[in-house]
Amino acid sequence: MTLKIPSYIQNIAPYVAGKPIDEVEREYGITNSVKLASNENPLGPSPKAIKAMEEAIKRVHRYPDEPGFTLLNRIAEHTGVRPEQVIVGNGSDEILGMLSLSLLQPGDEVIVPNPSFLMYAIVTQTAGAELVTAPLNGMEIDLDGILSMVTAKTRMIFICNPNNPTGAIVRRDAFSRFMAALPDDLVVVIDEAYIQFVRDPQCANGLDYIKNDTPVVVLRTFSKAYGLAGLRVGFGVMPEKLADLLNKVRMPFNVNLVAHVAAEAALGDEAFLRQSVGLVHQSLDILYKELDERGIGYHRTQANFFLVDVSRDAGQVFEAMLREGVIVRSMAGYGFPEYIRVNIGLPEENRRFLEALDAVLV
Ligand code: PMP
Repeated sequence: MTLKIPSYIQNIAPYVAGKPIDEVEREYGITNSVKLASNENPLGPSPKAIKAMEEAIKRVHRYPDEPGFTLLNRIAEHTGVRPEQVIVGNGSDEILGMLSLSLLQPGDEVIVPNPSFLMYAIVTQTAGAELVTAPLNGMEIDLDGILSMVTAKTRMIFICNPNNPTGAIVRRDAFSRFMAALPDDLVVVIDEAYIQFVRDPQCANGLDYIKNDTPVVVLRTFSKAYGLAGLRVGFGVMPEKLADLLNKVRMPFNVNLVAHVAAEAALGDEAFLRQSVGLVHQSLDILYKELDERGIGYHRTQANFFLVDVSRDAGQVFEAMLREGVIVRSMAGYGFPEYIRVNIGLPEENRRFLEALDAVLV
């Protein structure tokens, strides 16, 4: 082949997802392994969503409702905006892609905290825009550092709140100062994939900044607290002008019919949401205590995952934990060579994690 591939595409390091259970079991000849690597909901999907999906599956010979008025209306009601301000995506990942397609071009600069969710860098590079990385201040996103990096070429800033992988939040007062100091010719994308798990009342809420003429996009997902990761559905809330732009590049029927009804049902299943969030909070408190007793370091989190300081090569610990049947994430590629990231599972899965850690860190 003699294809002329853009160099900015050649240079992208593809996203690496958490290892699937089946693959680990085949590779290591083990059974009964637990996956705590992709920040999923261990309780399964909301029962209301399951019921809605069972009914919807009989209708998949039809295209989904486009653009999905019922779901757009439900999300608008839930977030206090108009349906014209909502975009749904095949996971919030797809909306990240739409943002890049519709708003970025080569020569633009995009500021991305580092480490943070890897897709921000990938969608920036996809557009040929220049990635400007803003180191964290300890575990937290450094808003002043980001401000100091803004130039006339800056077109987008990503804020992950709480941040993946550190679990730290951006506080409301600091965020309001940050927003007030920014010019209005760039878009601030606030990714709130884990916002339902936050316990700190000081946490900023991106929806407070959605005003008609402020270029802000708030991303949320059904993949975490709502337990629908495999279905792929997320949404963005933004001023109507921005939603109109994203709709120009959005593929028709981008969210499937089953996902539509499941997301609607999950939004209405508050009991399941409370149960999911409650499980994470209780389990974190238990895990903090267990790790304290062992003298193992960690960072308190506002999300459904946290960083554990293994004080040795995280890649090796990750491998050794796999052999114990526990899938976590090494943070070596994120600039934390001695940390693993682990998400909250069912109580017995968290117990398995502790046992594996004990076996590996002897
Ligand atoms: N944002 C963050 C911070 C995430 O951690 C993830 C999932 N790992 C996503 C977005 C993507 O979520 P979705 O499943 O909605 O594409």
